[in-house]
Amino acid sequence: MIGFDTSVFPRLDPRHPDSFHEKIRAIQECFEAAGDLGAVKQAARLFLEEFDRIDPFIQSYTELVCPFCGTVCCAQIHGLPEFADVIGFHALGHSVPAYDLTRDLNGPCQFMGTRGCLLPRTQRPYRCTWYFCDPLLVQIEIGPTSHYRHFIEMVQALAQARGELMRAFFPIWDRYAKSLL
Ligand code: SF4
Ligand code: SF4
Repeated sequence: MIGFDTSVFPRLDPRHPDSFHEKIRAIQECFEAAGDLGAVKQAARLFLEEFDRIDPFIQSYTELVCPFCGTVCCAQIHGLPEFADVIGFHALGHSVPAYDLTRDLNGPCQFMGTRGCLLPRTQRPYRCTWYFCDPLLVQIEIGPTSHYRHFIEMVQALAQARGELMRAFFPIWDRYAKSLL
């Protein structure tokens, strides 16, 4: 079973800053109130392993292609997380970055530095890892077939690992959310 339907979680809408921040706080409180996080921690370890596996591969291609890009994809809206991303940050022991919701959502991402993203991959929204623009995909496709197959396999394994993490956390969140009603 690959992936997980993250629409079961609440939506983080940056156009409503109070609610955005309140929901992020609720995730932290849920982690703090949770008793047994064993399955979540185990799933988080596998998630981290997959990130560590795919990161050098992606890095090697973005280093090749991105410096020549005329339409950089890193807009502020893309650097803002969905609810599941924040679950991932907590499970991996990261703090949640301080999001600036006053910025133009279509302007450059606040985490864009002069040499690329300032955040470690595991502290970025998931979309920042799975999004591959056409020039990047072409570059991977024209490489050796075995390289491309390996890339697909790593993307699927990462999606699966994230799915397992969300599956492990969802019942904990569900119980917590119902306790607030
Ligand atoms: S991933 Fe693609 S669109 Fe984004 S900066 Fe790199 S080349 Fe440009
Ligand atoms: S990769 Fe980094 S700079 Fe680019 S959108 Fe994601 S968080 Fe922002």
